[in-house]
Amino acid sequence: MNWTNDTCPISNEPAQEELSGMEDVAEFICPTCGRFRITRTALAMILHRDPDANELALTQARTRAKEGEIPTIDSSML
Ligand SMILES: [Zn+2]
Repeated sequence: MNWTNDTCPISNEPAQEELSGMEDVAEFICPTCGRFRITRTALAMILHRDPDANELALTQARTRAKEGEIPTIDSSML
């Protein structure tokens, strides 16, 4: 794992982004949002949206994730 300092796309605060590996999905660890993944398509869309709506998308991703899985936000949740 190769982490870098970045900004959380959900809560706009300092977070860690995982850089190694996945082409289609970004992974973040945020002090507020926890650990989650977001598809590149969703990430491009989410930056211009209302923060409340983005938190709702994260809630949906958590609901859909199975036990022990990292929640993944995709564009269908936006
Ligand atoms: Zn966050």
